[in-house]
Amino acid sequence: KEELNIIQGALELRTKTVEDVLTPLSDCYMISSDAVLDFCTMSDIMQSGFTRIPVYENERSNIVDILFVKDLAFVDPDDCTPLKTITQFYKHPMHYVFNDTKLDVMLEEFKRGKSHLAVVQRVNSEGEGDPFYEVMGIVTLEDVIEEIIKSE
Ligand code: ATP
Ligand code: ATP
Repeated sequence: KEELNIIQGALELRTKTVEDVLTPLSDCYMISSDAVLDFCTMSDIMQSGFTRIPVYENERSNIVDILFVKDLAFVDPDDCTPLKTITQFYKHPMHYVFNDTKLDVMLEEFKRGKSHLAVVQRVNSEGEGDPFYEVMGIVTLEDVIEEIIKSE
């Protein structure tokens, strides 16, 4: 039954982690920090359909900002505004979590915080060198909710 599925999903929040539900970095729609907000770039952003867009510097694993589509409301594509002008104006706080964060904890953080998107990182200690933080992807409130209401 539907209700049982939802209860089941809610109970699983305590055992599942953000790593189980994240959108991998390779699937993320992102934008380079040195992009220019011309007509081409702005229509691409609109067509992506996403509300929150991670901004990366040099490589996709280096997320430095989040662009909200609504930040573009006063941007005229003819001005070819550098993306940096917009991100430096709004300065949305970034939210990081570790891959082993349980979904019930994540849900509480989303409820408490303002942002509904977090960047998921893990400690990579596989190589020879020192362990380092590695970005795995992004997780949003929707990913957590979906875990509760998904029907199996
Ligand atoms: P909203 O529903 O608040 O307008 P949205 O549709 O852009 O936002 P969410 O509803 O938060 O995004 O998430 C829907 C799915 O899309 C989730 O699986 C989430 O991980 C994924 N997602 C969100 N932003 C991006 C992005 N920039 N690139 C790729 N996937 C994304
Ligand atoms: P997002 O978080 O995706 O940017 P949002 O902040 O505009 O969108 P929601 O997060 O969907 O809106 O909703 C937050 C609360 O604001 C909800 O209680 C919703 O009913 C209410 N809300 C949304 N749009 C309006 C509106 N136009 N006028 C009044 N209340 C609204």
